[in-house]
Amino acid sequence: YAKKKQGTAIQIFNSTLLKAFKDDAEIERDLNVAIRGRQFELYYQPLKDLQSQTYIGAEALIRWHHPKRGIMYPGAFIDIAEQTGLINSIGSWVLEAACKQLYLWQHRNIEMSMHVNVSARQFFGGNLYEQVWDLLTRYRLKPKTLILEITETELMEDIRYATNLCQELADLGVGLAIDDFGTGYSSMRYLKQFPISKLKIDRSFISDLNISRQSREIVSAIIAMAKALNISLTAEGVETQEQEQFLADNLCHQAQGFLYSPALREADFARFITADSSVLLH
Ligand code: C2E
Ligand code: MG
Ligand code: MG
Ligand code: MG
Repeated sequence: YAKKKQGTAIQIFNSTLLKAFKDDAEIERDLNVAIRGRQFELYYQPLKDLQSQTYIGAEALIRWHHPKRGIMYPGAFIDIAEQTGLINSIGSWVLEAACKQLYLWQHRNIEMSMHVNVSARQFFGGNLYEQVWDLLTRYRLKPKTLILEITETELMEDIRYATNLCQELADLGVGLAIDDFGTGYSSMRYLKQFPISKLKIDRSFISDLNISRQSREIVSAIIAMAKALNISLTAEGVETQEQEQFLADNLCHQAQGFLYSPALREADFARFITADSSVLLH
């Protein structure tokens, strides 16, 4: 009986695993045609400045309009793209699309900074610097309006390489943000070593603010540290008024989250931020 039961368990495990493999293989195959098929779209989530109470930036977040599966979120395909190397072409497409959009906004006197997520493979892949340089030149962008988001774990993969690349990018004038701050190895050394211009406090600390005294202490300590190091700070995943109040009281610079808006298609984003008239210079 035990043997039989065990056999069944293995079979179930196998068929689940097999389905997962097939799924991944299918996603990989479909990803190969997604760029040429214009199936990707960037959505934009607004970033709010807590002092002026205005929207000052956007984070570009990729969405995939899959012909059969419908809209797909990055959580369902970025890892596969990373493992297969497809992230290089997807990442290039994202940077190009984000910079083109930033150019269009600057053209319309919409003063926004653009945050773009960069994956490890893209960061260490060899031509990020050249690509960013090319985009800044081609679209005549103010360098500081482009902010690249990297996670701490990614930076630590190769500290020497990362230090050089970060310095080169900072010399170009683009911003560098640590994404999901507090969830990686959080070695404080890199804050000294890398020319970081911004930290984004991970959503997990923000969602705990109302229930956990520890989270409140951690967040106020991060705010104090960022201030002392002259690094700008964004809180991710702000969903309630109470969370915003805590952050504003503790002088956190910026906030991003569903309290304000989820990521929106460009037309909706433009409508959202221009309803807030202070972003328009004319
Ligand atoms: P991330 O960079 O930390 O982006 C923030 C994620 O949190 C987004 O999920 C966003 O929709 C979600 N979010 C924002 N506000 C809230 C909130 O108030 N509550 C909750 N529960 N969630 C909130 P999304 O768009 O699914 O992206 C997930 C991750 O995928 C991103 O995390 C980022 O690491 C990665 N990603 C997205 N776009 C790209 C891209 O173009 N390239 C690369 N390499 N990675 C990307
Ligand atoms: Mg991000
Ligand atoms: Mg990210
Ligand atoms: Mg994040």
